[in-house]
Amino acid sequence: MALIVQKYGGTSMGSIDRIKNVAKRVKRWHDNGHQVVVVVSAMSGETNRLIDLARQISSQPDPREYDQMVSTGEQVSISLLAMAIKELGIGARSFTGRQVAIKTDNAHNKARIESIDDKNIRQQLDAGNIVIVAGFQGIDEEGNATTLGRGGSDTTGVAIAAALGADECQIYTDVDGVYTTDPRVTSKAKKLEKITFEEMLEMASLGSKILQIRSVEFAGKYGVPLRVLSSFDENNDGSFDQDFQDNVGTLITIDEGDNMEQAIISGIAFNRDEAKIVVRGVPDHPGIASAILSPIGRANIEIDMIVQNLSTNGMTDFTFTVNRTDMEKTMKVLENEVKDEIGAKEILANDEVVKVSLVGVGMRSHAGVASLMFQTLAENNINIQMISTSEIKVSVLIQEQYLEKAVRSLHTAFGLDREDGESKVAGL
Ligand code: ADP
Ligand code: ASP
Ligand code: MG
Repeated sequence: MALIVQKYGGTSMGSIDRIKNVAKRVKRWHDNGHQVVVVVSAMSGETNRLIDLARQISSQPDPREYDQMVSTGEQVSISLLAMAIKELGIGARSFTGRQVAIKTDNAHNKARIESIDDKNIRQQLDAGNIVIVAGFQGIDEEGNATTLGRGGSDTTGVAIAAALGADECQIYTDVDGVYTTDPRVTSKAKKLEKITFEEMLEMASLGSKILQIRSVEFAGKYGVPLRVLSSFDENNDGSFDQDFQDNVGTLITIDEGDNMEQAIISGIAFNRDEAKIVVRGVPDHPGIASAILSPIGRANIEIDMIVQNLSTNGMTDFTFTVNRTDMEKTMKVLENEVKDEIGAKEILANDEVVKVSLVGVGMRSHAGVASLMFQTLAENNINIQMISTSEIKVSVLIQEQYLEKAVRSLHTAFGLDREDGESKVAGL
């Protein structure tokens, strides 16, 4: 008998029929003698709908009230699933983040989980019930509702698995594992049997939305076995046997050795949420970078890539990227607090850019990844606007319209294409 935490995302909970299917799957695991805790997201589209309501009232909604409202989507899902499971004749009990006591810090809209009280969950499991917990939400010290950032139910799932010492945390979604790149961009994307935590962390931080980055951090830190798999695969009969453990979905592992025979690159990630800001005609002297970036930091805006051009006649251009949703706010800060202070000529912004990144631990032992990447992009007439590298990744900023072309050509150039060229993802 195993203790399994299963997380179902928005698409998997997207309609009453799908919720009934989730109930059937959970029942199969229960019937096989396993204890099951289920973490669910809001039904697909619901969180966006709620956010849109808030934005109709304010472009920057009050963070506490935003969390109070946006966390309601998950509350609907947990009760519907509990009802569906009970209809199948099994005991089930749903809990909100508050009822489990998922304690977070008070950073509304991007709160971090600090502790989980497993008492209620264990009591219900011991009574033979299935426990259903709302993803994405928690409470702060003062009892305010908090949310964990978009995609945060993944993190709830892993955190609960860590708190319970679960045998596995299974992230059920609309694809059957982690692929070499988003299978919606190329049908040649290949499913990975395994990927290391380190690579998965990079993929997530570079824009792959398959797992929220904090869920991977948590799993790595607490050694939670983490698997991504499909909620649409009917073959999954609820046996946690060796065949399942070896073959189903993608396992996120600490073992680098297993990946040795793989290509140098494990995957290609991309991020459409980028915007490029250029501060033109700045006098090139010490302190300029800090004069530009400090006010932006104070406004809580995260900066990603940075380039300072060579100076001519003592003047230079300073370029950096921010999240697209922060572009206007950044422009305001620069116009109001920086431009005249440093004597910059003009400030330009461009939100039609994307970042494409190659990720792989194999880069440590192989040179030439960056040069093959640049050559491939050049052959496809794709201009590189910015570059950044680290030990296991190379990222480039390019014009948005070339995203698909770049990902597909790099996928082929780095030998990642699946041999049969056919996607196995449901609905694609
Ligand atoms: P959920 O609602 O289940 O949380 P998400 O939409 O958050 O699902 O994540 C699943 C999606 O992630 C897939 O539909 C796929 O388009 C996307 N995705 C991005 N990169 C990858 C990748 N490398 N492998 C698989 N899926 C990916
Ligand atoms: N419902 C939340 C979102 O859409 C959390 C999640 O789905 O993981 O971001
Ligand atoms: Mg998600």
